[in-house]
Amino acid sequence: MTATTYTFKGLLTEDGWIANAVVKLDASGNILSISESEKPDGEIINGYALPGFQNAHSHAFQYAMAGLAELHTDTGLADDFWSWRNAMYGLALTLSPEQMQAVATMLYTEMARHGYTAVAEFHYLHHDKDGKPYANLAEMGARLIAAAKTAGIRITLVPMFYQQGGFGQEPVERQKRFISNTIKDYYKLLESSDAAAKAYENANVGIGIHSLRAVKPEDVIAVCNALDGSRPFHIHVSEQLKEIEDCVAFHGKRPVQWLLDNCNVNGNYHLVHATHLDDSEVKGIAQSGANVVLCPSTEGNLGDGLFRFEDYKKYNGNWSIGTDSHVGLNPLEELRILDYGQRLISHKRTTFVNPGQGNSGFNALKMAWQAGRKAMGAPSQQFFAVGQPFDAVVLKATSPLAATASLQNLCNTFVYTADVSDIAGTIVSGKWISKNGKSEKREEIVEDFVKVLTELGTRV
Ligand SMILES: [Zn+2]
Repeated sequence: MTATTYTFKGLLTEDGWIANAVVKLDASGNILSISESEKPDGEIINGYALPGFQNAHSHAFQYAMAGLAELHTDTGLADDFWSWRNAMYGLALTLSPEQMQAVATMLYTEMARHGYTAVAEFHYLHHDKDGKPYANLAEMGARLIAAAKTAGIRITLVPMFYQQGGFGQEPVERQKRFISNTIKDYYKLLESSDAAAKAYENANVGIGIHSLRAVKPEDVIAVCNALDGSRPFHIHVSEQLKEIEDCVAFHGKRPVQWLLDNCNVNGNYHLVHATHLDDSEVKGIAQSGANVVLCPSTEGNLGDGLFRFEDYKKYNGNWSIGTDSHVGLNPLEELRILDYGQRLISHKRTTFVNPGQGNSGFNALKMAWQAGRKAMGAPSQQFFAVGQPFDAVVLKATSPLAATASLQNLCNTFVYTADVSDIAGTIVSGKWISKNGKSEKREEIVEDFVKVLTELGTRV
């Protein structure tokens, strides 16, 4: 039985736009039918529905320091990724579960406002401030799930296995909140995370290893061997040159090469960053069917480097986007930063297409969405299909540029020119979680966030 009906000026499918699309949903927000009709029905929206953006990499607590670590003082040391990481550890050491929840609720509400309908939370801040586990091992994960529930966004909580301070090194004091000593400890955490996810119908749990430097090689192999494809697997890899050097010194191999040689890398793997690759690694990732999660605004902010997109594209490699440290939250901007970094070094304008064919904006949206869905453990290949929950971001048809663009130029108009003011709203399972920039509890959420940030003093 139809519970909700929407009519959009247009709805994007893999085969192009359906004009005047009437979408009928059941009481759970699943799609019953999509049809093109001259007769509008239900809630009539002067906007274009696209599949909701997928945020495949997030560290929620880092939102509290977004845009900071930019007052550069003369310490005599380089101000790079590692100095930023020090500032980040300072924040990680102080957050309580309540503060984590307030920060994450604000962040996820902002993600929803920017059109994200799902987030993969790469979560490693597990324990209490003294490093001891909370009574509920997944206390912090439960807070992240509660935050997503309040914001209305889907969450894939990916609790991270984090065991050591570097290749062959004990963890340092500042990492004490992250640590699971053994695989058994980590699996217990995973089990508790599964229990925590039951509190929200739009939550599920992935599996992950923070990075090759953070877990002993035999344990990386054991975790990877035990993967059965029921959960997406996430790992940070090859973000920093120093990490490559340390890996080569320890293993005699570069990180991605080591992973390819020792684990059954496949389409269930989500390699976050993969910035510094040699030729065989580029080819190896693509041919394994694995996915790369690119975080262009954060990678740019941290000075990581540029992913070898052009070479990866030659092998039809899969990729998604994530906002990582949340210095940027606009998914369209992530795509632009990614594209423009490549254009600036290739002197070509065909990052997302093969020369002479294709539609850049559409291809970018499609690639990022498809691998993004897989990163959530939801390997659906269709934007909108009967029986699937209706998750969409709706772009205003009244924005000056969209109002004057033909259907074939619409995706490009959005990808290359739009910002959050062009978004009419975001829908998850048929319900608006953000509309005209507002959500149900927004004022309360902002108030809590400001209170917590004032307590923390992070942004002073
Ligand atoms: Zn990360």
